[in-house]
Amino acid sequence: MVVIMKPRASQNDVRKLAAYFEARNLKVGITVGMGCTILGLVGDTTALDIGKIQQFDTVERVTRISEPYKKANRKFHPEDTVVDVSGVKVGHGNFTVMAGPCSVESEEQIVSVARSVQAAGAGILRGGAFKPRTSPYSFQGMGIPGLNLMLEAKAETGLPIVTELVSPHYCEIFNEKVDLVQIGARNMQNFELLKEVGKMSKPVLLKRGLCATYEEWIMSAEYIMSQGNENVILCERGIRTTETYTRNTLDVSAIPCIKRMSHLPIVVDPSHSGGYRYLVEPLALAAIAAGADGLIIEVHNDPDHAKCDGQQSLTPGQFDTLMGKMGKFVELMGKTIVR
Ligand code: PEP
Ligand code: MN
Repeated sequence: MVVIMKPRASQNDVRKLAAYFEARNLKVGITVGMGCTILGLVGDTTALDIGKIQQFDTVERVTRISEPYKKANRKFHPEDTVVDVSGVKVGHGNFTVMAGPCSVESEEQIVSVARSVQAAGAGILRGGAFKPRTSPYSFQGMGIPGLNLMLEAKAETGLPIVTELVSPHYCEIFNEKVDLVQIGARNMQNFELLKEVGKMSKPVLLKRGLCATYEEWIMSAEYIMSQGNENVILCERGIRTTETYTRNTLDVSAIPCIKRMSHLPIVVDPSHSGGYRYLVEPLALAAIAAGADGLIIEVHNDPDHAKCDGQQSLTPGQFDTLMGKMGKFVELMGKTIVR
């Protein structure tokens, strides 16, 4: 971090400010220029509050040189992280497909979809029991009974399950029953929830917030990792842009950029990105080409009557066809579909 002092700062001001940083275990290099003095800070500056330093009377400007995230940073952990979801690997050459309905609706629905996606080659079953909806009048999910139906589908197929956690209230039960804990886009910056999830022993699927920058998204992963849970998978699920023709806009650049910034695996959700069934295949193929470690895709046995997100859900037959097509692309990228 570099701190540029105001031109009128006296030698005493420079000494006082240097002592402030030294007291925080940082080494301070002082460069006296023609017009101003620059302090170069060496050491772990993650805990420094830039806003606070900027407010000091004698400070002109503060610039960070290194990223504010450590545990998620590729610089300190060059090799790819592989996250183990109850035996199904995610990251570094493994290509993992998670599939299932937006929300669990009945035993018949979830078990039949679980069987179909498994037969098509999916490695993990998705399904929401708690649904954070824009409208309080929309279907909110079945709650704990829905989670129990996911467990029945797991017992029938052996597929690990991923489902969304919306409140710290359910951490204990999720830690016991869920294989991969999903944090949805709307909760990406629910920091109290992230801290609690960081104390769980199950891996986490952290979706990108609707308007989050890469750094904000990685800082949310850092919240979880800083509490001890380092098994985080990032999920690009489309962001808000000026375009309204699609539900969201898939940010394909996120894949190579996140891989450069962090060692964590990144998967893509082409269903919420585009918002329409016909967009799932092209977006899924684009994600593979850009280097994604996997996909999370909505599949419903009867999309026209789905309680949630039917318009973007594939039928089991369409999912099977897509899996067939994807195989060659995944192979071309030097990855293997795992289950
Ligand atoms: C979902 O996966 O069903 C979901 C609600 O996703 P997101 O949080 O990305 O909107
Ligand atoms: Mn959905």
